[in-house]
Amino acid sequence: AIRLDSVSKSFRLDDGNSVTALEGIDLGLREGEFVAVLGPSGCGKSTVLRLIAGLESASTGEVRIEGRAPSQLAAAHRLGVAFQDHALLPWLSVAQNIALPYRVAGTKVDNARVDALIELVGLTGFRDARPSQLSGGMRQRASIARALVLDPDVLLLDEPFGALDAVTRRHMNVELQRIWSTRTLTTLLVTHSVDEAIFLADRIIVMTGRPGRILREVTVPFPRPRDPSVL
Ligand code: ATP
Ligand code: MG
Repeated sequence: AIRLDSVSKSFRLDDGNSVTALEGIDLGLREGEFVAVLGPSGCGKSTVLRLIAGLESASTGEVRIEGRAPSQLAAAHRLGVAFQDHALLPWLSVAQNIALPYRVAGTKVDNARVDALIELVGLTGFRDARPSQLSGGMRQRASIARALVLDPDVLLLDEPFGALDAVTRRHMNVELQRIWSTRTLTTLLVTHSVDEAIFLADRIIVMTGRPGRILREVTVPFPRPRDPSVL
């Protein structure tokens, strides 16, 4: 479903030098596959996600989703993203932030679905709160709900549980696994937790930095649960 072929990415810096964030990245995700990305800070994990989301373009090589350029898929609203900065709009309520993709897509807001997602991420009682009234972990959960609201085919999650306490983090892991087990959702998850990667993913990619490249790939030897009874 997703292919990166010999992808490199360099950024030009203000001083005229450039930094090679990624070099020679070959990565393929099958439709419905869940891949976790591990690696030290600065190794290029977020850059990989931003390339797939169409927020950056590759310096060399090619990024394709369903054979198309990422920007085309993003334009078709089939991509759900929750990034490190979680980018909630401060002047909107939690419910309005989660419903934002409907407005961007120009479709009618499904309030029942928004409420179901608010409940799923444990923010019941905060639907009318502003992001500034939430903790960092609550903001992360709101951005996960927003990433899921349009029922995407591809989900890109960049350290989405980093600010959560251990209990809430495990709850979110279980919920994500439940959602994931019910439908074909191609997922790339950046995490610093080996435990989380093993719990959730079909395959784990380990990256290393300077320049960022893939060091190792590990396939989790147990099939992920598929449960058609849960929604
Ligand atoms: P972390 O775990 O800390 O989030 P990361 O693996 O996500 O790190 P990236 O954010 O992808 O790392 O950054 C990879 C490298 O590319 C870093 O050296 C970073 O400084 C550089 N980089 C990323 N974005 C830019 C940019 N817009 N301009 C210049 N350099 C950048
Ligand atoms: Mg990052």
